[in-house]
Amino acid sequence: MDHTPHGIHVVAKPIGPVCNLACEYCFYLEKKALFGPGEQYRMSDEVLRAFVTNYIASQPTPVVEFVWQGGEPTLLGLDFFKRVIAFQRPLVGLKTINNVLQTNGTLLTDAWCLFLKKHNFMVGISLDGPQAIHDRYRRDRKGGGSFERALRGLRLLQKHQVPYNVLACVARETAQNPLEVYRFLKCQEVEYIQFAPIVERLPDDPSGPSHGLRLAGPASLGRKEDQTRITPWTVESEAYGDFLVAVYEEWVRHDVGKVFVMNFEWALNAWIGNPSPVCIHAQQCGRSLVLEHNGDIYACDHCVYPQYRLGNILGASLPDLAERSRQSGFGVCKESALPRGCLECDVLAACRGGCPKQRFKKTYYGEPGLHYLCKGYKKFFRHIRKYLHAMTQLLENGLPASHIMDAVKGPLLIKRQ
Ligand code: SF4
Ligand code: SF4
Ligand code: SF4
Repeated sequence: MDHTPHGIHVVAKPIGPVCNLACEYCFYLEKKALFGPGEQYRMSDEVLRAFVTNYIASQPTPVVEFVWQGGEPTLLGLDFFKRVIAFQRPLVGLKTINNVLQTNGTLLTDAWCLFLKKHNFMVGISLDGPQAIHDRYRRDRKGGGSFERALRGLRLLQKHQVPYNVLACVARETAQNPLEVYRFLKCQEVEYIQFAPIVERLPDDPSGPSHGLRLAGPASLGRKEDQTRITPWTVESEAYGDFLVAVYEEWVRHDVGKVFVMNFEWALNAWIGNPSPVCIHAQQCGRSLVLEHNGDIYACDHCVYPQYRLGNILGASLPDLAERSRQSGFGVCKESALPRGCLECDVLAACRGGCPKQRFKKTYYGEPGLHYLCKGYKKFFRHIRKYLHAMTQLLENGLPASHIMDAVKGPLLIKRQ
């Protein structure tokens, strides 16, 4: 058992599901249905102060990381984030406090970027690729594309030297254009990229309880696979594997050590035997709770449903709320529910069965609980094994992993120095 003090990680949504865009594939906008009419989607100072105080006090680690997400958190205005800093400042003590802002980038201005730079924010900005790909799904309520506004946001971050990474969603059409997407991002001088596959399905029983949501919640093991209705924007499983493979082939020849694709970093990390920093490929869930604007705490970002509500920050401490999650079995279930098909899989150590919410396929043995992207994951993890092996050898010999770019031109033999 791992006894390292990890602390509790919380993703805060101070404006709930409110956004200035209406991306067709967004899974969060519809969460308004959970809060009812008349709701003010704005975190009060009471909730903010309780969260900041509780969060800092509950971390055994020297670094405390706040993640601000939405919806679109910049809609709250700079004053909200000035209060965040004001509430954090007296509690810093000997700790280091980091803030991460996840944004669609469209509302960033010089003033925002000056503030973000001054207070050492790390920004995650969403950009799916060149205009035609980005605007396919990332549109506003009037149907207008958001590409130009997002790119302007990226330019402002670069101009003010705000540290950032790009989150690129891989929807069905995107997967057909891996090099177009990757080369576009490189041309924009993006150094840190994370690819996020889009997988959503519609409820199995449209007349069943849905809490007013159009998208399905986590898959139950008892469901029949032939009920599955995935959304038109969901990436096809093998196509996602092909997408990652194509980008990897380009990256491993030209960009190792210059461009950091987080999906590739995670794979190398798993190959070396380290625990995954990302929940989908971690052994268990339950490390990252979600704080909604009204103080409600949920088990994770993809499980904001009434059955996963753990309580409210105004009525319980974060360690108690995290303990409720643990006791519910939410975390261990990811590992304990793995079907035999996964347990016997040759890439289990890298994949770990993927996110349980998307385990709605059946294995070779006919068992439920296989991840929808299994074919894609397998293809990708198997394809890169030879490269990971070579990179590990380089690192063991005290050489930088970037030497793989020379090695790859030959028969992938790494010579000891
Ligand atoms: S920018 Fe993000 S939160 Fe807003 S609609 Fe698009 S995906 Fe949803
Ligand atoms: S690749 Fe497929 S079978 Fe292997 S662990 Fe992942 S989901 Fe399971
Ligand atoms: S359910 Fe999915 S998104 Fe949530 S913690 Fe588990 S792996 Fe992560």
